[in-house]
Amino acid sequence: MALAAALGASGTLAGRRTARLLALVRAAKPTDRSGDEAIRARNELVVVLGQRKLLQRFWPGLMHAFVFWGFLVLAPTILIAMIGIVDRGQTLPWLGSQGWYAAMVDLFCVLVLAGVASAFYVRKVVRPKRFEGSHKGEADLILALIATIVVSLLLWHATRIALGLNEWPAAWSPLSRLLSHLFARDETTRVLERVFVWIHVGTILAFLAYLPRSKHLHIATAALNVWFGRTAARGRLEPLRFEPSEGEREEDLRFGAGSAAELTWKEVLDAFSCTECGRCQDACPANQTGKLLSPKLVIMGLRDQLFDTSEGAREAALVPGAVPEESVWDCVTCGACVQACPVSIEHIDHIVDLRRHLVMVESRFPSEAEPMLRDVERSGNPWGHQQAQRADWAAGLGVRVLEPGEAAPEYLYWVGCASSFDERARATAQATARLLTAAGVDFAILGPRESCTGDPARRMGNEYVFQALAEQNVQTLSGAGVRKIIANCPHCFNTLANEYPDFGGNYEVVHHSELLARLVAEGRLVPARDEALTVTYHDSCYLARHNDVLEAPRALVGALGTPLPMARSGRETFCCGAGGAHMWMEERGRPINEERVREAAQTGAGTLAVACPYCTVMLDDGVQSSGQALRVADVATLLEEGLLRAQSEAQASRQASG
Ligand code: SF4
Ligand code: SF4
Repeated sequence: MALAAALGASGTLAGRRTARLLALVRAAKPTDRSGDEAIRARNELVVVLGQRKLLQRFWPGLMHAFVFWGFLVLAPTILIAMIGIVDRGQTLPWLGSQGWYAAMVDLFCVLVLAGVASAFYVRKVVRPKRFEGSHKGEADLILALIATIVVSLLLWHATRIALGLNEWPAAWSPLSRLLSHLFARDETTRVLERVFVWIHVGTILAFLAYLPRSKHLHIATAALNVWFGRTAARGRLEPLRFEPSEGEREEDLRFGAGSAAELTWKEVLDAFSCTECGRCQDACPANQTGKLLSPKLVIMGLRDQLFDTSEGAREAALVPGAVPEESVWDCVTCGACVQACPVSIEHIDHIVDLRRHLVMVESRFPSEAEPMLRDVERSGNPWGHQQAQRADWAAGLGVRVLEPGEAAPEYLYWVGCASSFDERARATAQATARLLTAAGVDFAILGPRESCTGDPARRMGNEYVFQALAEQNVQTLSGAGVRKIIANCPHCFNTLANEYPDFGGNYEVVHHSELLARLVAEGRLVPARDEALTVTYHDSCYLARHNDVLEAPRALVGALGTPLPMARSGRETFCCGAGGAHMWMEERGRPINEERVREAAQTGAGTLAVACPYCTVMLDDGVQSSGQALRVADVATLLEEGLLRAQSEAQASRQASG
């Protein structure tokens, strides 16, 4: 009777709150996360069951994994204990009397306690910065509840062994048996047996009632959030629709997120799932260089706003109500937070949606970005140069400009605005063109018919301008019969490969480092290696983290000199500071590019290799402002030098032998 009452009370409290959470999800805006079930099932196995993302930081990850795996193993003990409350002589059929299961219960009780103790130690003694702003008191309470559940279970088992009530062979549970020596076979132990089982079940029911209101809501939602996470093309932003498509309601349209009512259901689920672990904040280059932005606080702010039941809260402005405006503009869309998050929260979507509302609905954005947005819209490039000057970089190189009506080449070389107009980045385009010519690749450029892909406008929040450019470029490319594209800019690469398919543009896109590495591997380009050339390679976020291009640039560096890797490289790379339209924005706090240049200098390399025109400009600026003795060069430039080296060596050896 008492158990039924406790179950009823806990179920009612949890049910009421769960109904409210479900109502929030149902009222949210639509987003399509269907398909790819095989990938989603794999993510459940690897990210949820395997705790892979948590184990990126091995020791804290392992401690969390002990608690998580422990709860899976210990889950049936809830039923066993409830049966024990009703009738102390009964247990769960089969499982309740298995020795091996009793052994696992003992083992996982110890592991869960180790996990809880280590979490307390980290929170109370180590106090890492990543917990700043998290609900610390609530975390302590939850750790205490978990410890109570586990300790009461062990003591319940111990009293049952002492009373001879254990249905399993006691030898299988050495810890419980050891603890049983604390108890005599008497009336006091009979009372204590009842006390411990009630503490165990009562704490679980209290936890159940509290869970949907707490930060540990992630226990219930994280697996769902991982299931609905992105399955491919991590660098893709979901397009906004400005007209309702067939079957869509006018009220489902949105222009980003201005209020909690405009979040998509995935964004709502993201907010429910945050564990406040701060791993995103720790990885964030903006936060690490003293900016206001904390991706954790962005998600927590949105969750607080969603949970606010006061009148008008659902329609209240998210910026600055839930998220400070400065934070919204601090983001460089590098994706480090998304990669670090153990529950697959997609922070970039949230931040870009906030920007979309500010830019398109309120016309609010940093004033210094205004010329960029204007020039992209009016001139087709963020530098505001004449489109007629787009192919000036190729003067004298014999590069074919694809004219309307001409047959498409095998590869269309998409040069991008930076490599067309910025003096330092132009060197990359020139080296790439010479290398492709030397290797006999059939390629051409669009010249004045190439426009900005729209990436900076889109990341800034101006989806209108992006979509207009995307449609125009897709028309030009598809109209010219283009099938394969070479891009030397990772931002163009990401947009052409991952975002233009949403506008009907489906092309095979390669990054120039991939094609050049292939040409070297095939012997069509034969550079000479220089052992004395020490090179540290900087991974561009849009190449490595968003698009998994890791090996090709490394293969080139390895073919040219001695690679000296930086501490943070590959998918763990640290941004140059240019992404998310930051190439055109003022930077607050310490400059991100100087931070990265310092890290590069620590390797002792003389050359800082890059594979992105934005990185070229940002890191070269960083070298100059921080006074480091480093030369910044694109891998194409370095490869061309390797070819020239090979030619001079061949000439020298001919002279020596002749
Ligand atoms: S995308 Fe990069 S800059 Fe933006 S919040 Fe995430 S980690 Fe920070
Ligand atoms: S967003 Fe993800 S990484 Fe950041 S605090 Fe929340 S759970 Fe942790």
